[in-house]
Amino acid sequence: MPPPAFETPLIFDGGQDGRANRYVPPAPPIANLLPAALLRDDLPLPDNTELDVVRHFTRLSQKTFGIDTVFYPLGSCTMKYNPRINDALANLPALRDVHPFVPDELAQGALAVMWELERSLASLFGMAAFSLNPAAGAHAELTALLIAKAYFKKKGDARRTTVIVPDTAHGTNPASAAMVGYNVVSLKSDERGRVSVDAIRAAAGPDTAVCMMTNPNTLGLFEDHIHEIAAAVHAAGGLMYYDGANANALMGNSRPGDMGFDLMHLNLHKTFSIPHGGGGAGAGPVGVAAHLVPFLPTPVVRADGYGETDGRWPSDGLTFSLDFERPDAIGTMRSFWSNFAHMVRALAYCYANGTAGLTRVSQLAVLNANYIRASIRDLIDIPYDEINRHEFVASAQSIKRESGVRALDIGKALLDRGYHAPTVYFPLLVPECIMIEPTETESKETLDGFIAALRDILIAARENPQSVLDAPVNTPVSRVDETRAARQPDLRWHKKG
Ligand SMILES: *Cc1c(COP(=O)(O)O)cnc(C)c1O
Repeated sequence: MPPPAFETPLIFDGGQDGRANRYVPPAPPIANLLPAALLRDDLPLPDNTELDVVRHFTRLSQKTFGIDTVFYPLGSCTMKYNPRINDALANLPALRDVHPFVPDELAQGALAVMWELERSLASLFGMAAFSLNPAAGAHAELTALLIAKAYFKKKGDARRTTVIVPDTAHGTNPASAAMVGYNVVSLKSDERGRVSVDAIRAAAGPDTAVCMMTNPNTLGLFEDHIHEIAAAVHAAGGLMYYDGANANALMGNSRPGDMGFDLMHLNLHKTFSIPHGGGGAGAGPVGVAAHLVPFLPTPVVRADGYGETDGRWPSDGLTFSLDFERPDAIGTMRSFWSNFAHMVRALAYCYANGTAGLTRVSQLAVLNANYIRASIRDLIDIPYDEINRHEFVASAQSIKRESGVRALDIGKALLDRGYHAPTVYFPLLVPECIMIEPTETESKETLDGFIAALRDILIAARENPQSVLDAPVNTPVSRVDETRAARQPDLRWHKKG
């Protein structure tokens, strides 16, 4: 059944003076507290009853597409279920109420959470250590490139001015490299949708600082020559960086450290089940190999007694402290100890799954993505039609040629049928690209429903293209002028008349 189209009376236009504030005592006159220059005589805000306001915002919230209401197969975003137990644990007063300035002796539990998460990530991904400082994936890329820069500076190697980025990379990769002052060398993918060893040998040289790679790449393909690629970059004296924002394909099954990566980041707000989207708080830990540990941002959590605890785990008998005395550190990347509640959520997710469970997470994510691909490949082109990892791309190019229906229209038609649209027009090297990532948390019934809806749309695109071009008709808002909405957003309420 299509979602009901709500009539939301705009309380802003319906209010009447004197309706508000029945339940709230009058506030002290704020005018007494503010400088006269900041005061205005007239503030034409609408006046509504509390109930009308509650209904207005509740209805607005019901118009939202989110992971708690619908399947959200947004490629390269890993929109998985956010287990409620994570929030319950992050809300435990003993963790929630710790002031960032309490002495280490009084924050042993919180520091243990940080240390256990750091150790868990290091062992899962094969790195010597992680910094929990960065607050997002792009922030982590910046952090890692600053670490690389500090490393080469310490070595006295001033020639390294370029960063190699394949054309399948997330847009944040070249942007981060440019922010740190590196020149970006873009690497064209080969006909298999991968980086070729020959191309990397030709590109890497004495000016190469870092090669940034995503594996599996954003086409959902595993870079099967990763060892030779890493060897070529290392032979040229450069460092290998792993963009692990979407680690959902390999977590527990293979490790970037073993593939030859020196630096990496994770998006805890993707792979580790933390809510994300809308620019909300994230967490992007950066992992490094042993030779880069001294450059990690401060503070790092130190565990005294570690190694002498006869394998006790998690952290019995250890004493934790925040270490700021790190002369080679690049500095601090985030105020206080970054988004601590997210660390609690991520650790809860690790413990709830265990190593075997996390391994299974990626296996199911890969299985689900392949299931969808195999179920639609007779109706839409799959440019790299092979076993994919956690996501895959389809192309609406030939459908567009036949009927005028584009990737965008297919996304809109999915909204009509109660599914969030997949990622479209990324990565750029596939025309009319549709990128689907189901994650492991969806049931077979949900996947089957999505497949049926998508097949229905792909058939309609040929038989009745206008019905797809007109979509969506069941959503609260139909087609909007997306360019104008982005360039001239009007987000303020204006009093009518
Ligand atoms: C999401 C993503 C990023 C950026 O992460 P943010 O937290 O949004 O800054 C980087 N690389 C890849 C591959 C991603 O999917």
